[in-house]
Amino acid sequence: MSIRENVSQILSELPPGVALVAAAKTREAGEILEAVAAGVSIVGENYIQEAERAYQIIGKRARWHFIGHLQKNKVKKAVALFDMIETVDSLELAGEISKRCAQIGKTMPVLIEINSAREGQKWGVFPEDAAELIAEISKLPNLEVVGLMTMGPFLGDPEALRPYFRETKRLFDEIKGLKLAGVSLKYLSMGMTDSYQVAIEEGANLVRIGTKIFGERR
Ligand SMILES: *Cc1c(COP(=O)(O)O)cnc(C)c1O
Repeated sequence: MSIRENVSQILSELPPGVALVAAAKTREAGEILEAVAAGVSIVGENYIQEAERAYQIIGKRARWHFIGHLQKNKVKKAVALFDMIETVDSLELAGEISKRCAQIGKTMPVLIEINSAREGQKWGVFPEDAAELIAEISKLPNLEVVGLMTMGPFLGDPEALRPYFRETKRLFDEIKGLKLAGVSLKYLSMGMTDSYQVAIEEGANLVRIGTKIFGERR
């Protein structure tokens, strides 16, 4: 099936209120443009350089979400291009984002990345540390916490990811209930090609899909 057909099929099957992020790492700008022409309104990028290249072609025809691991020395470029950063997991990174946004008069919506499987080597904040981190981040002037994101562990079976998605949704509801000043959680970004149906059942309203749109990565 073509990129256009894949996008149409996914969009027609997503429940109302669930938005699609086309995860575009390694794809040519032309392929991303085809997805945008077919109705993708949010492009997710993991790498700044790739994003800059695609942005030159696609520009404001899509909104741009950063979904990779953001290094501090790339923040200046990231805040200039992206409309949302989904992977904030430390006060240090948040502080840098706020500082760089202040320099260009922007307020960045961010998601806090949750290490829902508590894997030592992985990015993201442990669930039990998330509320405190968000309370600290919410004091920064030029960024706004608008939700949570999780990857979950790499497991063959999407059903095996369900407990991690469920835990992240529980955390989302819990933090929402704290009514922290300046925090309004709206987005829960969970699920990829193999797991997005399970993630939606568990409460995701942003799904990040690459392979099912563009085919296997080369
Ligand atoms: C690559 C990637 C995806 C999409 O993965 P697929 O399995 O190709 O759908 C989603 N989220 C993140 C953070 C990614 O890096």
